[in-house]
Amino acid sequence: MSSPKKSILWFRQDLRLIDNPALLKAIESEEVIPLYILDDDNAGKWKMGGASRVWLHHALDDLNKQLDGKLNLYQGKADDIIPHLVSEYDVGAIHWNRCYEPWRINRDTGLKSALTSTEGLLVKTYNASLLWEPWEIAKKDGTPYRVFTPYYRKGCLNAHPPAEPKPKPNNINATKLPCSLTLEALSLLPTKPAWHQTIMSLDDWDISEQGAHDRLNDFLDNGINSYRQGRDFPAMKSVSGLSPYLHFGQISPHTVWQAASKLEADKNRDHFLSELGWREFSYYLLYHFPTLPHDNFQAKFNDFPWQDDDGWLRAWQQGKTGVPMVDAGMRQLWQTGYMHNRVRMIVGSFLIKNLLINWRHGQDWFWDCLFDADLASNAASWQWVAGSGADAAPYFRIFNPVTQGQKFDPNGDYIRQYVPELKDMPNKYIHCPWEADFSTLREANVMLGKTYPSPIVDLKESRQRALEAYQVVKSDSAA
Ligand SMILES: Cc1cc2nc3c(=O)[nH]c(=O)nc-3n(C[C@H](O)[C@H](O)[C@H](O)COP(=O)(O)OP(=O)(O)OC[C@H]3O[C@@H](n4cnc5c(N)ncnc54)[C@H](O)[C@@H]3O)c2cc1C
Repeated sequence: MSSPKKSILWFRQDLRLIDNPALLKAIESEEVIPLYILDDDNAGKWKMGGASRVWLHHALDDLNKQLDGKLNLYQGKADDIIPHLVSEYDVGAIHWNRCYEPWRINRDTGLKSALTSTEGLLVKTYNASLLWEPWEIAKKDGTPYRVFTPYYRKGCLNAHPPAEPKPKPNNINATKLPCSLTLEALSLLPTKPAWHQTIMSLDDWDISEQGAHDRLNDFLDNGINSYRQGRDFPAMKSVSGLSPYLHFGQISPHTVWQAASKLEADKNRDHFLSELGWREFSYYLLYHFPTLPHDNFQAKFNDFPWQDDDGWLRAWQQGKTGVPMVDAGMRQLWQTGYMHNRVRMIVGSFLIKNLLINWRHGQDWFWDCLFDADLASNAASWQWVAGSGADAAPYFRIFNPVTQGQKFDPNGDYIRQYVPELKDMPNKYIHCPWEADFSTLREANVMLGKTYPSPIVDLKESRQRALEAYQVVKSDSAA
C-alpha cells in the first residue's frame, strides 16, 4: 500500500527526533504535519505543574528549532482538535507514540476509535517510552507482578531485550499550518514572579535533545563508575540527572539502556540499569492499577490516622522545618526543580511519618515543583515511602534525618549549599544544630528560632507517635 500524501505526527511524551518510531513512519508520507497539543482539559487534576511547564516550554522551543520552525502548536482537547485538523487538511494518516497515564489512555482510546471510523484514514501507534510495555510482562498465572525484583529479573530480563535505538531521519518535509499558535501563546512560563529565570541560572540545565545526549555521555564517562555507592550521596555528582529528559521523551529509555549496556558489565552499570527498571515498574503499576495516584495501593491504609497540619505542611514545603537535611532537600527542589533521590526519601519519610501528613500532599507538592514530575514514578514512590504501595518500605522504617545526613552527607556539603544559614556550623552539629552548645552556635552565627528555625517536631517523640499510628496497619503487614 502506498503511503498517504499527508500525515500528522502527534508529539506527546517523545519530544525528540532520534529514536522516534512514529516520526520514522510519518516521514514515509510526502508531507508531515508535526503537532503538539497542550491538553489541560483532559488532564484535569493531573495537568502539568509549574516546573513541568517551564521545562516543556524549552523542550518545545528546541523541537521547533530542530524542525525549522515547523512545529504546530495547539491548546485544548486533543480529541476535538485532531479530528478537525484531519478533515480540514485532508490528512491520510496519523501517527503517535503511546502514553500510559490513565487520562491519556482514556482520551487516546476514544480518539483512536473515532478516527479509525474515518474512511481512508490510517491511525498508527507505537512504543517509544518504555523498554517493556506493561501488557508484555506477567506472572505465570497471567496476573501482574506486585514486587519489583521478580518483575524485573524474572519478567523483564527474561523477555525480549530492549530495542536498539533508531537514528534521526535525514530529511523531514514538515508543514506549518496557518492556524498554529505561537509558543508564547501557550503561556507556559510564569510571569510574576519569574522564578524560572532563577532556576534556570542556578542549575545548568540544557533543556534540549542535544542536552539530554550530552548528559548521558557525561554520566557514562564519569558518574556511572561510582554509581552504586555514589548515588546515595547528594553532594556527589554520581547520578545521571536524566529524569526530566526521560519524562519528556527528549531521550528514549532505549538509547539510555543500550548505551549503558555497551559498557563493561559491573555492579555500577547493572545497578543503573535496574533503576531504569524501577521507572518501568512504576509505569507497569500505574497501567495495571490506574488509581495509584489517588488511592492507597494497600486498602488497609484507608483508615490511617493522618493528622494534616497546614502550618507543618507549609514549613516542609518552604524548607523551614528546622531539620537541616529535610530543609536542604526542600530548598534544592524549589531552587533547581530537582531533588536527589536519597533526599526525596528522607523528606518523604519526614512528612509522612514524623509529621503524619498524608502522602498525597507530598505528591501534589512534588507534582508542582519537580522538572521530572511524572505521574507513574511520583505516585509509586510516594506510596513506597508511605508503606501503602506495592513492594513498599516497611511501615517501621522511619528515616532519621540526622543519621541519614551524617551517613550520606558527612561533611555537610549538601547542607551548606542549600541552607547557607548553617554554613559555619562544625560537621559534628550541622545535621543537629539544636544539640550544639551556646558558644558553638554563636561562633557559627546561628541563633535557633531566629536565623534558623528550631525543629518543628522532636524527632524521637514524633517517631514514637508514627509507630503508634502505624498500629492500624501493623497486623496485616506481618501477614
Ligand atoms: C517521594 C519520591 C518521589 C519521586 N518522584 C519522581 C518523579 O515524579 N519523577 C521521576 O522521574 N522520579 C521520581 N522519583 C524517583 C527518583 O527519585 C528519580 O527518578 C531520580 O532521583 C532522578 O534522578 P536521576 O535522573 O539523576 O536518577 P538516576 O539515579 O541517574 O537514575 C536513572 C533513571 O532511572 C529512573 N529512576 C531512578 N530511580 C527511580 C525510582 N526510584 N523510581 C522510578 N524511576 C527511577 C529515572 O528515570 C532516572 O532518570 C521519586 C522518588 C521519591 C522517593
